[in-house]
Amino acid sequence: MAWGRRSPRDLVALGGPDGRGHSVGGLETYIRLRELGLCFDIGRAPEESLSCGLVLFTHGHVDHLGGVVSHVASRVLRGMAPPVYVVPPPIAPKLEALLELWRDIDGAALPCTVVPLGPGEELQHKGKHVIRPFRAPHFQPAQGYGIWSQTHKLKAEFQGLPGREIQQLRAAGREVADLVEVPLVSFTGDANSDVFDEEVVRKAKLSIFEVTFLDERVSVESAREMGHMHLDEVLEQAHRLESERILMTHFSARYNAREIRRILDARLPAELRERVTPLLDHINP
Ligand SMILES: [Zn+2]
Ligand SMILES: [Zn+2]
Repeated sequence: MAWGRRSPRDLVALGGPDGRGHSVGGLETYIRLRELGLCFDIGRAPEESLSCGLVLFTHGHVDHLGGVVSHVASRVLRGMAPPVYVVPPPIAPKLEALLELWRDIDGAALPCTVVPLGPGEELQHKGKHVIRPFRAPHFQPAQGYGIWSQTHKLKAEFQGLPGREIQQLRAAGREVADLVEVPLVSFTGDANSDVFDEEVVRKAKLSIFEVTFLDERVSVESAREMGHMHLDEVLEQAHRLESERILMTHFSARYNAREIRRILDARLPAELRERVTPLLDHINP
């Protein structure tokens, strides 16, 4: 079986999840990128999510956002720093209002920072990564996230010069380096297959996207109406997917893990299959 060989460590090496993420359509999505020090979505705030000080929320459905109050409250209890929640701008004032209500109900301060960040905007992260939301076509306003590494590379004309001369050039105000960006990770959240028009979804080293429906029990048309992806559409797009690793998430709760493996094994072309890992944690065997 191709799936068994794909250890979480491969994904971690690409800044991917450390094997603690899980995602079941309609129930709970939570994916932690340990190497990058952040999480995507918190549907229910499992214990291991408490270490995430930065959470990038994709949209307001409860299976993606529902754990936010537990998350901040549990972090406070443990004396951890107030978390930062990045959210689509239309949700930000509603989330602030929700937190205010909970502060009133609970009597606790629930300290956190809500950051509205939409497509076209970006957030620097730890000085070497940049996070950019992109539009995710879904049932309600939603967005995915691309994360790029950023490094500075000495311009070709200055390579080979002694460090002292480069410092002098820099001191004189010359631009001596180019900014080099590499797309590391993309996460679609919930989205229909139009999300593949986003370059980072097709080219990030690790592309994490939802595939809610896998077979004829739900048609492609119905999947699109619900703002979700059908495996048939992934197969149509396969020739465009350049990512080294693909993590498929958000399978409908109607499938058990054995079915998911069987269907993917039967339907994915070999070239795609060897790059794909289905996220099966917390799914019935
Ligand atoms: Zn969902
Ligand atoms: Zn949703």
